[in-house]
Amino acid sequence: MIDTILKVARRLAADVYTDTEEKRSDYRTLTAATEDYFNPGRSPSTCRHCGAPLLWVTTTSGAKAPLDAVAIQGMDANGEARRIYLSHFSTCPHADALRDEKKAAAAARPESGKSKSAQ
Ligand SMILES: [Zn+2]
Repeated sequence: MIDTILKVARRLAADVYTDTEEKRSDYRTLTAATEDYFNPGRSPSTCRHCGAPLLWVTTTSGAKAPLDAVAIQGMDANGEARRIYLSHFSTCPHADALRDEKKAAAAARPESGKSKSAQ
């Protein structure tokens, strides 16, 4: 990742381009790679079923979970405004298909469901 960032940043800094579209392409590559590098797990992603933009988080059990990238405004117990990201499983119109995929992926992993408590 950092290799891509450095390579493209050097090309842009040296302005080696004869083609404007090539320069734009490198700029898009740099923007995406930098975003992914500094915000791991927040790279642009969309639901393959409904097309909604997603964020990915890792749960305390180590599983990856999709969240709606568009936050809603909520209030905590102290009355303070908070941004809340809902699980995409609760908002996707095709949530059943998502759950089936998740179950199939978990079944395909031999160590799934077992805690990693080896001492
Ligand atoms: Zn969806």
